Amino acid sequence: HLVRSVYPKLMPYTSGLADYTVEEIKIVLNKEKVYKLSFNENPLGPSPKAVEEMNIAIQSLNLYPNSPGIKLKEKIAQKEGLSSENIVLANGADDMILLIAQTFLEPTDEVIIPEVTFIQFLASTHLMGANPIMSPMKDDLGIDLDAILTRINKKTKLIFLCNPNNPTGKVIPRKELDAFIDNVPSHVLVVIDEAYHEYGDVGEYETSVPFVKQNKQVLIVRTFSKIYSLAAARIGYGIGSVELIEAINHVRPPFNVNSIAQVGALASMNDLAYIQHAKTVNEEGKQYFYDVFSELGLRYIKSNGNFVFVDTGIKNKEAFHYLASEHGVIVRDLSGYGLETSLRVSIGNQEANEAFVLAIKQLM
Ligand code: PMP
Repeated sequence: HLVRSVYPKLMPYTSGLADYTVEEIKIVLNKEKVYKLSFNENPLGPSPKAVEEMNIAIQSLNLYPNSPGIKLKEKIAQKEGLSSENIVLANGADDMILLIAQTFLEPTDEVIIPEVTFIQFLASTHLMGANPIMSPMKDDLGIDLDAILTRINKKTKLIFLCNPNNPTGKVIPRKELDAFIDNVPSHVLVVIDEAYHEYGDVGEYETSVPFVKQNKQVLIVRTFSKIYSLAAARIGYGIGSVELIEAINHVRPPFNVNSIAQVGALASMNDLAYIQHAKTVNEEGKQYFYDVFSELGLRYIKSNGNFVFVDTGIKNKEAFHYLASEHGVIVRDLSGYGLETSLRVSIGNQEANEAFVLAIKQLM
């Protein structure tokens, strides 16, 4: 009871790969080339303007960073039509999710989480000793908001949603989300993870920022790890009402986001051409995968992220092992969600995408 370990419960979901570099995986698999398409990383790397600013910031490593990250918060606020008091920075979106759990959860609380979504919602809930209530998906693996509503009671404190959802890439239709937010009682806080916000398809995906403007009990989580390609810098943020953000600031460690990440994120946001390019490259990669999956007759889900969910019809253990050992292609095995024949594949660079396509064609 001294240590609140969540990992035994999560074991089926983790591939353990986060502990190894690509170089180490090459040695384990005895491969000259390894293509890691399991972490939804942006293969382009950060904007050159961000790298330039980060190189300058390295000169001042002796100084503590600006605690709230005021310049970056102002930039985000301006972009979203909010005030910097509506923004809080964190050491990655994972850390933002944990900060939210640390700020709002007590061990007696219940937290409603869709069965097939980002695993850190469950990890942070367990860590605070609160009770996760898993809510079933729709038949098409969409998030079932009605099922979530029926699970709300007096003990419910948080609801975690992910839009676009990881690992399916599906969006929650706006009309459904509007009706849902109207029906959630005021003692419940709805957290909406928008890690893939910038990849969302126009006309399909919409941000939940308007709920914050309407003063609803909604907190949004975003990251610079995906389209901005700053995963190693560890920087993400939350958007919410001034009251909610103030509560999180009481829990947030003062220097939780380093100065290199802060300047890199700011420069990335200013490089609009880079973001557009990253989005275009990602869309081309997705289309390439869709065409191949259609050709092979595989069921896949159109994605609003930088990854695609595909059902190979072959047991994951066999498919994952074949792709890795024969082709050096590492994908995300979704067996931990009870999806025994489904994989999530990140969009990589051209070489990695081609390696995956060759591998999946030979597997079928
Ligand atoms: N939320 C979702 C939905 C994600 O997919 C990820 C990254 N896998 C994160 C949060 C964590 O992002 P970060 O690198 O900023 O911690």
